[in-house]
Amino acid sequence: MSLKDDIIRDIKNLPGKKTNRKIVCIYIDDYGSIRVKDKKAYETLKAAGLPMDSTRYSKFDTLASVEDLQMMFEVLQSVKDPQGHYACLTPYANIANPDFDKIRESGFTQYFREPFTETLKRYGSSHEGSYELWKQGIAEHLFHPEYHGTEHINVLRFMQALQRGHKTSHLAFDNESVALPIIPGDEPLKHESTVFYIEKAEENESLKEDIRVGMRMFEELLGYRPKQFTPGAGNYSPALHGVLKEEGIDYINVQRYFPYPLGDGKYVKKFLSNGKKNEVGQKYVVRNCAFEPYWDNCKRNDNAVAGCLENVAAAFRMHAPAIISTHRVNFVGSLEASHRDDSLQQLKTLLQEITKRWPDVEFMDGTQMCEIVF
Ligand SMILES: [Zn+2]
Repeated sequence: MSLKDDIIRDIKNLPGKKTNRKIVCIYIDDYGSIRVKDKKAYETLKAAGLPMDSTRYSKFDTLASVEDLQMMFEVLQSVKDPQGHYACLTPYANIANPDFDKIRESGFTQYFREPFTETLKRYGSSHEGSYELWKQGIAEHLFHPEYHGTEHINVLRFMQALQRGHKTSHLAFDNESVALPIIPGDEPLKHESTVFYIEKAEENESLKEDIRVGMRMFEELLGYRPKQFTPGAGNYSPALHGVLKEEGIDYINVQRYFPYPLGDGKYVKKFLSNGKKNEVGQKYVVRNCAFEPYWDNCKRNDNAVAGCLENVAAAFRMHAPAIISTHRVNFVGSLEASHRDDSLQQLKTLLQEITKRWPDVEFMDGTQMCEIVF
């Protein structure tokens, strides 16, 4: 890597709260949310003309199976910090999914959701015991989920597409799958998986209710209130800060520089950094170390480990925590096991390199990191 690249990395870490401790936490988005139900749904949808191999989400992404979680936990337990802590994931989780049967029974007039634990029951023996592994991961501090939106779809746009008979949406729906690339020639859809995207400010009212329901469901299923939030697909209105605060959210994970929709065509652009406070006292979290073993176009990212290590080094040089960012899609194998196995191997290499280069590293979940540093 060039000196120029190093300087850019250092500058990115200039703003934000500092620490002399070498803290690593790993945020991983999308656990709990459906995408492609299974291999059969993938084949059916591909045969119907959906370009399923055009994005990593339609080619690989699905609910984590028992095998996926067990293999992930083994990788996390392959390293330990000097305090004896294993590496720990902070999954941004979606606690619910659409209830396809009830929505169909209503003639697509009404939206119904189900907890992800009900969804898992329709995924067969490969997923039997997944929920127990979530709870085990939480108890053993390998897995500490936080809130990514109640479901990972924009309910209003999902229902509108079904109501106007959108062909790709109905094919996906019939196969219990969501947010897939459209059949060539079909009407393009925007913001299908962008949970909190709004066109009119008044749309925030139903989103507030979704947050209340989702936060309660999260606590019921996982045994604690989440303290951190990142919006599904990275977009939300600051008008939601108040309700998120009331429901227990103290930290909001955002992109460094982002136009937030206020509705009615209005946006506010903000530059955000680690530990910066918003108007209701919540603090922002900005990830600084990307780790995506596969690109969105499904190609392998041959620089994933080396690139992430450069960013961890820059974070530590600048006395920032190393906040790694990744997605579930890399680490699930029900649609294609080989890419999961490869991603897990890369994660293992990354973690081993981190413990080798920085023997005083401390593995934490996101909230522990925030409470210490911010
Ligand atoms: Zn997401």
